[in-house]
Amino acid sequence: MPIATVNPATGETLETFRPLGPDGIEERLAAADRAFRAYRTTGFPERAALLRRAADLLEADVPEIARTVTTEMGKPVTAARAEAAKCVKAMRWYADRAEELLADERPDDADVRDAGATAARVHYRPLGPVLAVMPWNFPLWQVVRFAAPALMAGNTGLLKHASNVPRTALYLEELFRRAGYPEGVFQTLLTGSDAVEGVLRDPRVAAATLTGSEAAGRAVAAVAGDEVKKTVLELGGSDPYLVLPSADIARAAATAVTARAQNNGQSCIAAKRFIVHTDVYDDFVERFTAGMAALEVGDPLEESTEVGPLATERGRADLEELVDDAVGRGAEARCGGRRPRDLERGWYYEPTVLTGVTPAMRVHQEETFGPVAAVYRAEDLDEALRIANDSPFGLSSNVWTRDEAEVAHCVRELEAGGVFVNGMTASHPALPFGGVKRSGYGRELAGHGIKEFCNATTVWQA
Ligand code: NDP
Repeated sequence: MPIATVNPATGETLETFRPLGPDGIEERLAAADRAFRAYRTTGFPERAALLRRAADLLEADVPEIARTVTTEMGKPVTAARAEAAKCVKAMRWYADRAEELLADERPDDADVRDAGATAARVHYRPLGPVLAVMPWNFPLWQVVRFAAPALMAGNTGLLKHASNVPRTALYLEELFRRAGYPEGVFQTLLTGSDAVEGVLRDPRVAAATLTGSEAAGRAVAAVAGDEVKKTVLELGGSDPYLVLPSADIARAAATAVTARAQNNGQSCIAAKRFIVHTDVYDDFVERFTAGMAALEVGDPLEESTEVGPLATERGRADLEELVDDAVGRGAEARCGGRRPRDLERGWYYEPTVLTGVTPAMRVHQEETFGPVAAVYRAEDLDEALRIANDSPFGLSSNVWTRDEAEVAHCVRELEAGGVFVNGMTASHPALPFGGVKRSGYGRELAGHGIKEFCNATTVWQA
């Protein structure tokens, strides 16, 4: 994939970039290593001041960077502004809390004595330069979600961003530089994915984090495994959205529209499989379909647009294949199921609701990365849970019910890294984020996230 800014709303190539050659990569690896040796000795107040400064600068840049993001990957500009604002919040959250999250942990006195020590503690130290392989769908947030905790822990960061968001990638490097971070603490590697293996095998790189497809995750984890380096993987999702009879159906349907169509449907934690109890099925499907069909599709730079184009031509083709496969096997497109007739340029796709989905269809097993909902009818909660768990993915999940016993049962049974009750999945700095099964492993955000790239050092004293 060439490194280029291609506007998904028009298909026009706006700018192309020459990838870094071996010398450029070497220069940056050396800088990351050099920077780590000094940066790791800084204290939390110093790191927090830098991160707060980056947050302030980003806050001032929100309108401008939002337009860049929209131009590169097509999300509605209102959503791009919200994404940038969320990054500001996460930076401040980690600036305020990292010291407390990484404070020494002390076992009970009795356990210390039992271990033959007079004192013992766990002390968190940074690992070193961390490679972040990141996707285009939340091109600011995915990076900040890694960088804010990693830098607060004292690591340095090397960003290999998706090839279709180079301007955003360069903006991020510049943001940290303007905030006053020492040279080499946070750098962008403008390279294709073919350069990742060499970077990851370099002894100066300590660990890697990847957000993206299962294929990319597998490739990076295989190399990291071979090198015995720590990885965190946040891969795809096909989150279930269970609607049970006691739910507020109007709210469940309205939220389902947002949960499916947010970010033009290109979110790993978007609800993708809507599993509805037969008693409320017709009511839910009618409201949900009306909501999806009413979404305003169009130019993502327009303030009123709710759904823009898909980020890449390939992404739209993949989505079309999945819908065609489902319809070919008997699913019904209650709305959408095609490109909008009035938008000839750009990679648009109409918000789509598919009913009559069965396990034989590809949408049941694969991630639909666009505004396409698969709807299932379930006879009871057990069947709903069977359908929900019959997926290779396990990122998050959503349950709509007013019955506390059903909530407890779902929390016990759903194979996912999150269970969101009477709402839609969203990430927050204070809540760990990540999945099970083929959605990956490890956690981002909260205390869990900041500790992923730390050396939990046992200090034992006789
Ligand atoms: P990819 O997984 O291919 O891209 C994500 C990142 O991984 C990019 O930086 C990419 O670089 C890099 N990458 C890709 N292949 C490799 C590899 N073999 N070794 C090292 N790095 C690699 O996502 P796509 O954009 O191709 O999207 C395909 C599908 O992935 C989507 O339809 C969706 O299902 C899923 N996806 C999930 C995301 C999530 O948030 N969980 C985000 C994005 C995609 P480069 O751009 O240079 O290829």
